[in-house]
Amino acid sequence: MRIKLKYDLSSQNTFRMKVSCECFVEYGNVTELAGLNFDRLPKPLLHIGEGSNLLFTGDFPGTVLHSDIEFIKYVDIGLDEVPVMVGAGVSFDNFVSEACRHGLWGAENLSLIPGEVGAAAVQNIGAYGAEVADIVSGVVCFDLKERKKVKFSRKDCRYGYRSSMFKEPEFRRRFVVTSVLFRLSRKPAPKTGYKGVSEALGGRVPQSPSEVREAIIRLRREKLPDPAETGSAGSFFKNPVMSAEAFARISPDGSAPHYLLPDGMVKVPAAYLIDSCALKGASVGGAAVYEKQPLVIVNRSGDATPEDVLGLEEKIVNTVRERFGVVLEPEVEHI
Ligand SMILES: Cc1cc2nc3c(=O)[nH]c(=O)nc-3n(C[C@H](O)[C@H](O)[C@H](O)COP(=O)(O)OP(=O)(O)OC[C@H]3O[C@@H](n4cnc5c(N)ncnc54)[C@H](O)[C@@H]3O)c2cc1C
Repeated sequence: MRIKLKYDLSSQNTFRMKVSCECFVEYGNVTELAGLNFDRLPKPLLHIGEGSNLLFTGDFPGTVLHSDIEFIKYVDIGLDEVPVMVGAGVSFDNFVSEACRHGLWGAENLSLIPGEVGAAAVQNIGAYGAEVADIVSGVVCFDLKERKKVKFSRKDCRYGYRSSMFKEPEFRRRFVVTSVLFRLSRKPAPKTGYKGVSEALGGRVPQSPSEVREAIIRLRREKLPDPAETGSAGSFFKNPVMSAEAFARISPDGSAPHYLLPDGMVKVPAAYLIDSCALKGASVGGAAVYEKQPLVIVNRSGDATPEDVLGLEEKIVNTVRERFGVVLEPEVEHI
């Protein structure tokens, strides 16, 4: 267990904001977590993973918790449907890479998404026509309120688009995910319907999950910044959902990219709106709109401050609102 006071969080968030927390606790197993004297820790408590979906807007006055629970356990590798128990502190992409190496299907479309397994189950991460809810069969947590271990089935988690029970206001920050039970398959189940995936596979039917993984990695590297090189938190804004009338005001001839949702509402890519306002490359201080994907704000200079990012966020929101009457909401969690 590591406990540090006045801890520098620069390397604990992929945006690389130079902020600190009052106290930082990294535990290696559930016993260490359960044995913490929570009453004495500076409040509030915030559990983080790799900090790849967070924007720290300043120093954090409480305790930041981080899991170092790292194991991948194949419960029965001989089955067609293989249950795999994974510690919350494992890098999600390491889990995907291992699963593919074992020829197990289900996680390959989620290749190269930054972050840890615990957060993946909270966020219901998704990409290229798949989401983690498709392969989660249970989540083991430590309940910070009752101070005891609890297990949730996939159904209990109430997964929706990038949402889960863990993000609902009533339960937010109450449960620390300690491990996740996944169910992967030996039977080939390639998901290649999503735009670009089939092309990246050269039109071939993939013979292994690794083949899909490699194609997804190529696609992602073309469009997204590598967190090891450029600070960011991935997609900064949510794609706005609006009525058909509101969409008609944005695009009278209907030519703007959009997806019709089952309830008749229309989802419009925020990247299209930002790009249409000629904001690609726009900057405030060291923060800039990523040239290859306008949905991403990057720490261009390497020493951008929270104020730079917030200033650029405001500029984008105001410009898009003035031009289209649409208010963009951040996807990245502001701390
Ligand atoms: C370049 C880039 C590309 C990205 N692409 C995608 C993408 O394609 N699809 C996608 O869905 N996301 C994407 N993201 C966003 C990000 O990778 C995910 O949201 C990821 O799940 C965050 O994981 P993390 O470990 O960094 O969690 P953090 O950002 O540290 O935390 C995220 C949330 O999870 C909570 N949390 C973290 N660990 C635990 C735990 N053990 N128990 C309980 N709560 C916990 C935190 O309190 C916070 O609310 C991208 C980010 C970047 C930087």
